[in-house]
Amino acid sequence: MKKEGLFPGKRENVIVMLQSDLVVVGGGMAGTCAAITAARNGTKVVLVQDRPVLGGNGSSEVRLWILGATSHMGNNNRWAREGGVVDEILVENLFRNKEGNAVIFDTILLEKVKEEKNITLLLNTMVFDLEKTDETHISGLKAFCSQNSTEYSLVAPLFCDASGDGIVGFKAGASFRMGAENKAEYGEGFTPTKEYGELLGHTMYFYSKDTGKRVKYIAPSYALKDITKIPKFKSIKTGQMGCNFWWFEFGGRGDTVHDTEDIKWELWSVIYGVWDYLKNSGKFPEAENLTLEWVGTVPGKRESRRFEGPYMLKQQDIVEQTHFYDGVSFGGWAIDLHPADGVFSELPSCNQYHSKGIYAIPYRCFFSKDIKNLFMAGRLISASHVAFGSTRVMATSAHGGQVVGMAAALCREMGVLPEDFAGSSKIGLLQQRLNLQGQSIPGLPIEQSLNLAAKAKIEASGELLLDQIPFDGEWYDLRTAAGQLLPLQKDVPYRFEVMVDAGSPTSLDVELQVSSKVFNYTPDVLVEKQIIPLKKGVQQVNIAFSNTLKEDQYGFLIFRSNPDVRIRCSEKRMTGIVSVFNKTNPAVNNHGKQIPPENSGFESFEFWCPERRPKGQNLAMNIIPPLNCFSCQNIVNGFTRPYIQSNAWIAGWNDPAPRLSFKWDEPQQINSVTLFFDTDFDHPMESTQMGHPEDVIPFCIRNYSIKDETGKVLFEKYDNHQTINRWEPESELRTSGLLIEFEHPQENVPASIFEIHID
Ligand SMILES: Cc1cc2nc3c(=O)[nH]c(=O)nc-3n(C[C@H](O)[C@H](O)[C@H](O)COP(=O)(O)OP(=O)(O)OC[C@H]3O[C@@H](n4cnc5c(N)ncnc54)[C@H](O)[C@@H]3O)c2cc1C
Repeated sequence: MKKEGLFPGKRENVIVMLQSDLVVVGGGMAGTCAAITAARNGTKVVLVQDRPVLGGNGSSEVRLWILGATSHMGNNNRWAREGGVVDEILVENLFRNKEGNAVIFDTILLEKVKEEKNITLLLNTMVFDLEKTDETHISGLKAFCSQNSTEYSLVAPLFCDASGDGIVGFKAGASFRMGAENKAEYGEGFTPTKEYGELLGHTMYFYSKDTGKRVKYIAPSYALKDITKIPKFKSIKTGQMGCNFWWFEFGGRGDTVHDTEDIKWELWSVIYGVWDYLKNSGKFPEAENLTLEWVGTVPGKRESRRFEGPYMLKQQDIVEQTHFYDGVSFGGWAIDLHPADGVFSELPSCNQYHSKGIYAIPYRCFFSKDIKNLFMAGRLISASHVAFGSTRVMATSAHGGQVVGMAAALCREMGVLPEDFAGSSKIGLLQQRLNLQGQSIPGLPIEQSLNLAAKAKIEASGELLLDQIPFDGEWYDLRTAAGQLLPLQKDVPYRFEVMVDAGSPTSLDVELQVSSKVFNYTPDVLVEKQIIPLKKGVQQVNIAFSNTLKEDQYGFLIFRSNPDVRIRCSEKRMTGIVSVFNKTNPAVNNHGKQIPPENSGFESFEFWCPERRPKGQNLAMNIIPPLNCFSCQNIVNGFTRPYIQSNAWIAGWNDPAPRLSFKWDEPQQINSVTLFFDTDFDHPMESTQMGHPEDVIPFCIRNYSIKDETGKVLFEKYDNHQTINRWEPESELRTSGLLIEFEHPQENVPASIFEIHID
């Protein structure tokens, strides 16, 4: 028994001192991906999270689906899902949890962190104070865990603030902003007026479920009593829940840091008032058996402080897709601002406009310009209020977190500070290390000088020569315009033969379009247009273009809408080839065409987006001359996803044993083989609530083996579902040849791979 009598004075907490290389504060997607990346690259990390699970707004406590540049597949950012650790997490979540159960997602994040021996995870532990060695350097943080009544003293040379509100940056005295910039500062056309509001508010969600029998409901006294206070109350329906209610927003007129508890009560009032309306207004008889299954207790925060780095990202960088020498990450969510009155506003609940493609985020946005050993990740990075409207989403935040994790690892290796990597001499190293782990920095391939695969004589069992997308699929009704995205070559006069079925004599409007920027997928340059007469019935249509492309790039073969015509599709799918449709996706302000307000700083263009499987079959066609761009040399071109071209080796449809062989003149020491497979970077993989039709992406190679020059099996992999596979021999391996044998992933999908890196 422990017995203590009256203690003169006050007792002290138990204090635990933890020394590490990096302390990451905040276990949202940004902090979690920063910590994992740093840990995997040899850095001892303490990850401090003030709540019981990881994921921040993406956790089961808040239940937002993680999104980024893919924008629900609703804009023109093709193959834009963020690579690296966040990709690994989302692919794993798809595999284990395609139904989108938020609790399962928690377990995946916790497992990923728990498996990293270099991470000390402090859950339920809140950082509340810090110490500095001088004006510009933090020496340690103070944190407290109420569950084990322990105070932590966290000492490290480097810190990362990924806490959302920026507790570390704030306490350390770093420059920050809150609210919108004056338009004069950066000339951003989308700068909101004071009336519209300068801050985005918080939101909380609820889930309901059908119990199969009548459930009564008595609202708490703090519930909203007059539903008409919510101007859009008529759009509320039974069956909606979670992310459907992203517009239950409040707090943008106040101080979104210090007013948070008050904001939470207001949001609870809204939720319970809405539920009272659904259950007891008499307008929703179908709600009789429904009960509230879960209500958020932690508000999802959108915006508060933004900290200043040496560079501040602005609207023009996003719209014009500025090239930065220190580009390390990318975004692609629309610039998405909300009226500060939120749920009580008469205005549309959001105001969002897209760019024509993804944009780069420079490294200089990820560390404080004042505090020399402070990195920043997540929604608080150095971006203007308008640019933040896009950078704030979780996959973008996580992708930036990876930058911080890798930069911290390199700072540790080289004994330097964050700003030292901003110079042109070291930034290349950071970019290369990130790309080798899947970052896919726009326009920047993996540098090949250390890739033994690039030094080998590479031979393939065969290469796809795409002369036909077979005519074996459904008929697509051209009520909505459709297109086929194809990697085309410059100066080639292409001819296509498609099969159509016309209900009456009519014509087919066909266009060949490309993007004005070769790396984009927004068709805004007409190469040639043809109007082809059709007779009634099924017929083959010959489309011969005389104009050619000026550059190698993706081309759009577009069939304008004609409700009297159907076009034949194909069951076959392959890497880097996708059909697109001029449909709408109002959830992300896609109404077929973007027509922004004058002087808002955005451009007008059409949206051409794929459809989610099992829909979205390719349009069947003969292609003359065939596309001959799936060579095995692509696996050493440094790109790990389609970019300007498919960048994949694709085996022939009928190749009975797809394989790649590597031969060197001299035996080579093999330390690792890294394979970059196709897990469809177009698929947004929303983490929560929204289900997905498949748990493994159809393009992803499941089974393969690696053999040495004598044919001895060195490694076999079955049932792979991940994007990146890295194999390290258990004992020293010297060989003058490697053979990698693959199985086609599916009957209708030929084996393909983007990149192989051997060192
Ligand atoms: C309603 C709503 C809808 C949204 N819709 C989407 C969407 O559809 N998709 C999308 O991707 N994004 C969406 N966003 C934006 C996105 O959720 C946030 O911008 C994002 O979560 C920011 O990531 P983060 O890692 O910076 O912060 P957070 O996710 O907030 O993570 C920060 C973490 O730090 C922890 N923390 C804070 N202070 C401390 C401290 N002192 N000590 C220790 N830990 C601390 C917090 O508990 C939290 O877990 C939405 C946001 C809201 C509110």
